[in-house]
Amino acid sequence: MVNLFSKIFDFIYPPVCPVCNDIVDSHGMLCGACWSKFNWISNPKCYKCGYPFPADLDLGEKPMCPNCAAGECELDLIRSACVYDDVSKNIMLPFKHASALKYQMIMSRAMINALKDTNINVDVVMPVPLAWRRLFKRGYNQANLLSKPIAKYFNAYLDVDSVSRKYRTDMGHKNAKQRKENVRGVFVVKNTEHIKGKKILLVDDVMTSGATFYELNRILRKAGASAVYAVSFCRVVHAI
Ligand SMILES: [Zn+2]
Ligand SMILES: [Zn+2]
Repeated sequence: MVNLFSKIFDFIYPPVCPVCNDIVDSHGMLCGACWSKFNWISNPKCYKCGYPFPADLDLGEKPMCPNCAAGECELDLIRSACVYDDVSKNIMLPFKHASALKYQMIMSRAMINALKDTNINVDVVMPVPLAWRRLFKRGYNQANLLSKPIAKYFNAYLDVDSVSRKYRTDMGHKNAKQRKENVRGVFVVKNTEHIKGKKILLVDDVMTSGATFYELNRILRKAGASAVYAVSFCRVVHAI
């Protein structure tokens, strides 16, 4: 019955690539041509924060980037599906600001793929909170939407209200140090019940300097989280 229903559904709404509208095998997939334009992050990468290294380097089994080697990343693990560039930006920004929800499934799937070989156990999936004022203006938190299939994949609790965020002006053009200062103290734990002793996976659409993840990690640890991981769809990659 379910099969028949999905066949009829596919007949009326054939699965198409959300970028170019070519027919694909199933809903929520990119076509091969569009898929190959993304700069997907694979190996070699930093095994802790996922920073991508040039493809031709043989760095052994557990390579570490200079940041992680210096102990600057306090999260247990970070992964991103792809590099932030013109291709990923062209789906990430419309998804964030213009309700282009047709991209949600491919973004969530790519993020799940980026976590597949990590073997992490997750109790709680937590989208990076939006300030109430921004949520009201935008109508939705893009990270909440991305988190739903991820929580389902990990069979984890989707927590959208244990931490809230104060409103601060946009961080758009600030450098890493300014971002860190701007985000300090911006998150408030409202309910420790879902945090204490839990392994928490943070979810965001883009990782820029990492300041948001670092700050959330700081307050979640303070509230008793036993592990903090993070995943983003794309990541700004600077040479380090
Ligand atoms: Zn396509
Ligand atoms: Zn690293």
